[in-house]
Amino acid sequence: MILLNPGPVNLSTRVRQALIKPDLCHREAEFSWLQQQIRARLLDVYGLDAERWAAVLLTGSGTAAVEAMISSLVPDSGHLLVLANGVYGERMSSIAGIHGLQYVSLPHPWQAPLDLNRIAACLAENPRITHVAVVHHETTTGRLNDLAGIGALCRARKLSLLVDGVSSFGAERLDFDAFGITACAATANKCLHGAPGVSFVITRREALPGADMRPRSLYLDLAGYCRLQDAGSTPFTPSIPAFYALLEALLELDEAGGFGQRHDRYQALLRAVHDGLAALAIEPLLPPADSSVVLNAYHLPRGVSYQALHDGLKQGGFVIYAGQGALAQTLFRVSAMGAIEPADIERFVAALTDVIGARITA
Ligand SMILES: *Cc1c(COP(=O)(O)O)cnc(C)c1O
Repeated sequence: MILLNPGPVNLSTRVRQALIKPDLCHREAEFSWLQQQIRARLLDVYGLDAERWAAVLLTGSGTAAVEAMISSLVPDSGHLLVLANGVYGERMSSIAGIHGLQYVSLPHPWQAPLDLNRIAACLAENPRITHVAVVHHETTTGRLNDLAGIGALCRARKLSLLVDGVSSFGAERLDFDAFGITACAATANKCLHGAPGVSFVITRREALPGADMRPRSLYLDLAGYCRLQDAGSTPFTPSIPAFYALLEALLELDEAGGFGQRHDRYQALLRAVHDGLAALAIEPLLPPADSSVVLNAYHLPRGVSYQALHDGLKQGGFVIYAGQGALAQTLFRVSAMGAIEPADIERFVAALTDVIGARITA
C-alpha cells in the first residue's frame, strides 16, 4: 500500500529492518550511544551547534512534542500568543488552555495566510506577550506559513518563537537563527521517514527552565528529559525499535543529501501529481507559491465524494487523506512523505484517472 497521507509514512526496507534489531535495555551503554547518535544527527539536519541547541527525544507522537514544548517553555510569568490558521494551530491553543497558561489566540480562517499586520497590531496591544507559537507547515491545507516574517516581528520585540515543525522538519527550510526560532517540535514519522513512536523538540538550551522550576507535567517535562539525556540516560522506557529506525532514517537522509535534496524530491513528486490532476481539471486549494512541498490539498471533482475517491484508490493500492473539519466534504490531500518513488506517483495518477473516469461516466 502506498501511503499518500501525511504520516505515518511508507518505510524504506533499510529503516524497516532497523525495527528488528536485537532487544536492548535502556539502562545499558548501547542505548546511550543510540540516543546520543540520534540527538546529534537531529541537530545536524539544520547544522545547529550542540553548545547552544539541544535535541530532546520523547516517546510519543508529534503532539507530545508540541505539548512538551509549549507546557515546558512558557513560564507562569509568561504570556503566549498562539497563531492559528488550521487544526494544528488551534490545537496549540487547546494545549495552552489545558495547562493553564496565560495566552491569547489569533485565529484566522483556515484557507487564509497568517496576517502579519494583524499579528503586529495584536503584539502592540498586548505588551505582556513573551512567546509566540506558530505552525510552520499547516497540514490542514498544505500552507507553508511565513516563519521569516513572523520571526522578524518576534525579534523586534525580543519574543520567543515556538514552532510546530511536525510536518516540515526534514523537508522545508528551517533557518533556526535567521527566523529567530527558540524551539521547534517535530516527529520521526513524517518528513524524516522514521517509524511512529518517537518525537522531539529542538530547543535553545538557554530557553529551558532550570532544575529549580516546578514542571507542569511529569511525562512532558522537557527540561527533565534534557538533563537526563545530556547525562546519557532517559527518565522512562523509550520506544527502542522506533529509536533504531529513526537513526537509520537520519543516516539515509544524510546520505541522500540532506533536507535540501528531500525538499526537491518532494517538490518533483507533487508536481507530477499536480500535472496529472490538472489534466483532469482538478484544482489545488492553494497557489503553488503558498504551498509546502510536503502536501497539497485539492478540491474534490464535482460529483465525486471523498469516500468514493478514497475507496476506489485504496483498491488500487493508494491511501489519500481527507480534509479536516468543514473541509472534509470538499477536499482531499496528497502528501509526498515517505519512501515513495516517481513510478508510484505515475501509477497513482493513472489510478485516480480511472476512478474519476468511472465516476463521471457512471
Ligand atoms: C501530524 C501533525 C501533528 C500531530 O502529530 P501526531 O503525530 O499525530 O501527534 C502536529 N502538527 C502538525 C503540523 C502535523 O502535521
